[in-house]
Amino acid sequence: MLEIKNLHARIVDDGTEIIRGLDLTVKAGEVAAIMGPNGSGKSTLSYILAGREDYEVTEGDILYNGQSILEMDPAERATSGIFLAFQYPMEIPGVATMEFLKVAMNEQRKARGEEPLKVPEFLKRVKEAAASLNMDMNMLKRPLNVGFSGGEKKRAEILQMKLLEPKLCVLDETDSGLDIDALKIVADGVNALRSPERAIVVITHYQRLLEHIVPDSVHVLYKGQVIKSGDKSLALDLETNGYAGVIGQAA
Ligand code: ADP
Ligand code: MG
Ligand code: MG
Repeated sequence: MLEIKNLHARIVDDGTEIIRGLDLTVKAGEVAAIMGPNGSGKSTLSYILAGREDYEVTEGDILYNGQSILEMDPAERATSGIFLAFQYPMEIPGVATMEFLKVAMNEQRKARGEEPLKVPEFLKRVKEAAASLNMDMNMLKRPLNVGFSGGEKKRAEILQMKLLEPKLCVLDETDSGLDIDALKIVADGVNALRSPERAIVVITHYQRLLEHIVPDSVHVLYKGQVIKSGDKSLALDLETNGYAGVIGQAA
């Protein structure tokens, strides 16, 4: 479903290369965890997948269902079923969360050749999804992410993910700033989205989240490259021994 081949990318502003020959394959049905020390390029990778203009791919390719997405703008990527939950979710002032959700869901339906949702059906789906995440419906009357606490923002991301039913989900540090209860709710939300037709990439600095979302594969990112891949035992190994051992082997 996702195939990243020898990806090199740099910051447009100053030309610094951040991603330096990254290879990664994630199949449909798979939950892949990307781990790595701070500054290794994890968030940069998620921005590049989203299609942010601040980054420029200089070499390699990103294939989604066998097709390159490099020429697609962020909106096209989203409507084609790629969903990114960022480490720092963007605030969207002036638009109630409900309204935002309705527009996003209907854009995606349009891309699939489906009719817009009728209001009662839309409300039913939002209520169900919000209840499953312990979210108060009153919060959805407020502008998206504006004044939301860290935990509320993460829940709002998972809510969008549930409602948009993407094919490829990338979650960047969804666990940061969450207390144990919120972490459990977010993890349950992600687990509920596991499906043979969907690939999920969980980016995390810590093993903690992976106790709740058990990954099929674990990849260590360091200096813009995947330096080691393995199964879930790799995450436990990193928790015990830190990143130094893996980095030493790769050097
Ligand atoms: P991680 O998410 O793994 O902690 P990041 O992707 O946030 O790492 O950052 C990787 C490196 O790239 C860091 O050294 C960071 O300072 C740098 N970097 C990323 N984006 C920018 C940017 N827009 N301008 C300057 N430096 C950046
Ligand atoms: Mg970081
Ligand atoms: Mg990061």
